[in-house]
Amino acid sequence: MSTIDKFAGKPLRWNDGTIVHAVQSTQARKGEPMLWTFCQHDVPDGEAVDEDLTVTCPACLHELSVEF
Ligand SMILES: [Zn+2]
Repeated sequence: MSTIDKFAGKPLRWNDGTIVHAVQSTQARKGEPMLWTFCQHDVPDGEAVDEDLTVTCPACLHELSVEF
């Protein structure tokens, strides 16, 4: 769970039904925040959760280890 502690804000996760991705977000200039996974998938509206789920997506884990 150590990667989760490296997030500055709330951890966001997306369970795509098979594996759990780490989600990053940015505020769009106007309107809704944009959400996508570290492995570059768009997250469907309302499906990201601010729970401390263990990331199981290998690509997301790789990106997390590179970025931080
Ligand atoms: Zn992923």
